[in-house]
Amino acid sequence: AESPRTHFIRQIIDADLAAGIHERIITRFPPEPNGYLHIGHAKSIVLNFGLAEALGGRCNLRFDDTNPHKENVEFVEAIQADVRWLGFDWGERCYFASDYFEQLYGFALELIEQGLAYVCDLSAEQMRDYRGTLTEPGRDSPWRERSISENRELFAQMRAGAFPDGARTLRAKIDMASPNINLRDPVLYRIKHGVVHHQTGTAWCLYPTYDYTHPISDALEGVTHSLCTLEFEDHRPLYDWVIAHVSVPSRPRQIEFSRLNLEYTVMSKRRLTELVSEAQVNGWDDPRMPTLAGLRRRGYTSAAIRVFCERIGITKSDNRVEMAMLENAIREDLDATAPRRLAVLRPLKVVLTNYPKEQTEYVELANHPKIATLGTRMLPFAREIYIDRADFEETPPKGFKRLIPGGEVRLRGAYVIRCDAVIRNDAGEIIELHCSVDFDTLGKNPEGRKVKGVIHWVAVAHAVPAEVRLYDRLFNVPLPGAGGSDYRADLNTQSLQVLTDVMLEPSLRAVQAGERFQFEREGYFVADLDSTLEHPVFNLTVGLRDTWDK
Ligand code: ATP
Ligand code: MG
Ligand code: MG
Repeated sequence: AESPRTHFIRQIIDADLAAGIHERIITRFPPEPNGYLHIGHAKSIVLNFGLAEALGGRCNLRFDDTNPHKENVEFVEAIQADVRWLGFDWGERCYFASDYFEQLYGFALELIEQGLAYVCDLSAEQMRDYRGTLTEPGRDSPWRERSISENRELFAQMRAGAFPDGARTLRAKIDMASPNINLRDPVLYRIKHGVVHHQTGTAWCLYPTYDYTHPISDALEGVTHSLCTLEFEDHRPLYDWVIAHVSVPSRPRQIEFSRLNLEYTVMSKRRLTELVSEAQVNGWDDPRMPTLAGLRRRGYTSAAIRVFCERIGITKSDNRVEMAMLENAIREDLDATAPRRLAVLRPLKVVLTNYPKEQTEYVELANHPKIATLGTRMLPFAREIYIDRADFEETPPKGFKRLIPGGEVRLRGAYVIRCDAVIRNDAGEIIELHCSVDFDTLGKNPEGRKVKGVIHWVAVAHAVPAEVRLYDRLFNVPLPGAGGSDYRADLNTQSLQVLTDVMLEPSLRAVQAGERFQFEREGYFVADLDSTLEHPVFNLTVGLRDTWDK
């Protein structure tokens, strides 16, 4: 495991604890259930749950569900499954912002009673006009000076459904001239009829905004440190304003850190939703997606994702992380743990002409080069075998160490063979090779010559036919849609290649979905959900070495 980093947020919290400001910390992870979690969310989960774990505190899971039209229960359940999969446990502490709708309404009445909130009749467009710009102050709404009793009465009517969508809002009365636009009388409540909220059904036609809901939810839960991404830095004065003016039981502190941006992918939920709904990928758990469900199906372990999140660290500087960093984390994990297997992805039949026709012998191969406890397995060896087409070249490039006409190569764990003849069909395509075995090379070097190449193979009669899905980067460029272009134009149309006549060694028959292996010389693979007893399907998790710079 990585040593936990002492990033700036950890330092702030350590100081708060040392000063006795809190006995123990409470953090929260607050997803909106409008999509599946992605690797950026993992950064926030590992930070929030990780701090609570390290410091004997607690971390709440809170669904930030104030936008009912884009949210649903499928997303709620997927998010819960993904947080659990990452290895974190919220115990009893799973909350919904919608749990607080009644209390939030009560706090809004408190603001009204203090003259700090008013019902405004400006349309969205008018409000934008009144708001001003970065260089020009805003103007007061003509409804800003309504009496407390009128505001109280109108707000009750808004709740009762007396007005259509957009007719009225409740706004905080702060400062239309503030240099911070978030403080120019922000909207606290808007009217939304005809939506069925996944938690509260049709009980409400009045929905609180994120900026109003978030600080109060944090305070009601006793959250001590509310960690969010940098784009909320400018919202912090509003967060603090809300906390300061309603009778909440605690005062959480908001601290911002930079989001994770990963090259060659997109992470905004809008874009991920589009990729799914436009069928650019096969669902939220498509192995090319940066979602946790996709990465899991791709073969990522939660341990590797946690290691990656520790390595990228927590700072305030915006940066982009190379995909190679994520891949290195899973490659290291699988190199250390995954059993080795032989799989021929593009089979070429080889007849060993001097090998007895009816004979099968068994050779023993280690399951892992460094972990003896993973044991060994016996592989059948016979007169007909498959090798990979890429391991034979008639006109080899310089430095080619595999099989060539008249040349020799070692079959992994078995004999040295020599290629005597290349057999073609009428179309001139190579359909098989005739080779001969040097029987004096099992477990020892051949006499008087060096054979450098070692290739993998599978005996024809015992091979398990399978499908392998090779995944490549989902986008062709590090920053899809850069410069305002449509990110779809940067999609890699070759990101999935399906190999349908793969031949596996027999120990891979009846593999369970989710089992991970290194296919020697090819990469790390995981058995997909689509596998059946007789027909395994494997996904490429990651290649054996980093190829991102090529
Ligand atoms: P989007 O902007 O794509 O809609 P979001 O940030 O609104 O994403 P939420 O479900 O609200 O998505 O996110 C839940 C939590 O995860 C928030 O605290 C958010 O700051 C954090 N988070 C989301 N994306 C990232 C990221 N790329 N890096 C770090 N944290 C993130
Ligand atoms: Mg969002
Ligand atoms: Mg959000």
